[in-house]
Amino acid sequence: MTERPVIARSSLLPAASLSGNDGGHFKYPSKDDCPARDQHTQMPRDYRAWHEKAREMRDTHRQVRCPVCGYWAIWTPKAAE
Ligand SMILES: [Zn+2]
Repeated sequence: MTERPVIARSSLLPAASLSGNDGGHFKYPSKDDCPARDQHTQMPRDYRAWHEKAREMRDTHRQVRCPVCGYWAIWTPKAAE
């Protein structure tokens, strides 16, 4: 095994660094602090596993913002639209 890449966890970033793309600011430092986090789609915490899962789901799901925290934390099936 060679050395592992350092994985930046988004929960460690200040909320301000995440607010640029969406034009708004987030009310919570991380989506795990959202009071409605039970409604978030459960995704793997591991960086690579998350991206793998996201790639799978992209074909069948649409990522939408949580109305409470504003994070793109909810995946809805495309068929449901
Ligand atoms: Zn939320």
